[in-house]
Amino acid sequence: MAVIRGRGQVSASLSGLIIIALVLMLAIGWIGAPGQQLTELVMYLLTAGVLSLGVGAAGVFWLRRGSGRLWLQMTVTYALGIGIALFNVFLTVQLMFISSREFPLLVLLLLFAGVVSLGLGMSLARTIGQRVTALHVGARALAAGDLSARVPVTGRDELSDLAREFNQMAEQLAASATERNRQEAARRDLITAVSHDLRTPLSALRAMVEALVDGIVDDPATVVRYVATMRSQIDHLGVLIDDLFELSQINAGALDLELQRVAIGDLLSDVVIGLQAQATAKSIALEAAIMPDIAPVPVAPRKIERVVYNLIANAIRHTPGGGAVTISAQEVGDGVPTESAATANDWVLIEVADTGEGIGPEDLPHIFDRFYRSEKSRSRATGGSGLGLAIARGIVEAHGGKIWIESAVGQGTCVRFCLPRERR
Ligand code: ADP
Repeated sequence: MAVIRGRGQVSASLSGLIIIALVLMLAIGWIGAPGQQLTELVMYLLTAGVLSLGVGAAGVFWLRRGSGRLWLQMTVTYALGIGIALFNVFLTVQLMFISSREFPLLVLLLLFAGVVSLGLGMSLARTIGQRVTALHVGARALAAGDLSARVPVTGRDELSDLAREFNQMAEQLAASATERNRQEAARRDLITAVSHDLRTPLSALRAMVEALVDGIVDDPATVVRYVATMRSQIDHLGVLIDDLFELSQINAGALDLELQRVAIGDLLSDVVIGLQAQATAKSIALEAAIMPDIAPVPVAPRKIERVVYNLIANAIRHTPGGGAVTISAQEVGDGVPTESAATANDWVLIEVADTGEGIGPEDLPHIFDRFYRSEKSRSRATGGSGLGLAIARGIVEAHGGKIWIESAVGQGTCVRFCLPRERR
């Protein structure tokens, strides 16, 4: 700062000297002033220059200290400048050439010019002051938590740029506050859902254990039934805890993906075989239509098995007896809604379609959300945790793929996901 100020004083003195030299050259070359007058002129210019510089420097010092309102500082600076200019002109005129008849007229004209300049300067200062005040009020409102505070943007000068940037900053703050609120609400919902899902089987278990311990139930057939139910509740709790662990790893980006080149057809067939008994028990036709010669894909096999298992288990669960669940796989290029799918056969597309109850359009946008169940009571009764699709999406996206769902109530559901043929 000191350096800048020092430079300012040096350049002001230098300009003063240049002006004096110019005036002298003009006086000699143009007017042809004699030596005596030239000495007087130099003396006068030096005195007036030093005086003007002194007053000007005091004004600038006052301005830099920022005492008083901005518009007042600017107005005083204008007044100072105009005052110095008028003072110099009066002095020059008195010392030199003008006759006493013309002098009052010149004074009037100069005063008129001074008042007009001061008026214009004042109005400019007021406008700038008001715009700075608007920014100040906006910043104060923002600091007090009013994230809707914006300032008017007028013109294209530096203050407008500042106002525009202020508004952008306020916009970003509002957006991040909304996102923070959304995440907090999601976290609250998650805790509520987790505690509910843990509490329900635990309460059932406690009731059954107490009934057994207190001897309320002693008939052997009922005891066996109780134990079987307790076992299924414990299994359910185990699955829920595993799902939650998997989901937390997905959300933390800590999913352990040990990619191997896997023949996707074989992987799908293994899962289908594993679920065949479940489908047969419900009289559902479970079929696989896998295109031959699909080149091996780099995937974490256990994870992709998990995805396919979740999708087929859902399809079986939501398809009534006599229906069908079909699994297909093919290589695709165009048509996959992923921007980077430019060249042919870039992706392997896997599809799980059923002829089940379908999903209503009001549920479809939320179906991949954690703990979302389209018909809560029924799905909970059938053992779904509401995490299957969220986990499937997390795993597919961690592979650089994409998953989506189409469904029509009463007609069936089709879940598709694509995996990149090459590691991305
Ligand atoms: P869940 O463990 O409850 O099945 P998911 O995340 O796998 O949880 O599925 C969320 C909800 O989506 C399910 O509760 C169900 O209502 C609906 N859903 C999923 N797949 C199907 C399907 N094939 N047909 C009809 N509804 C489905």
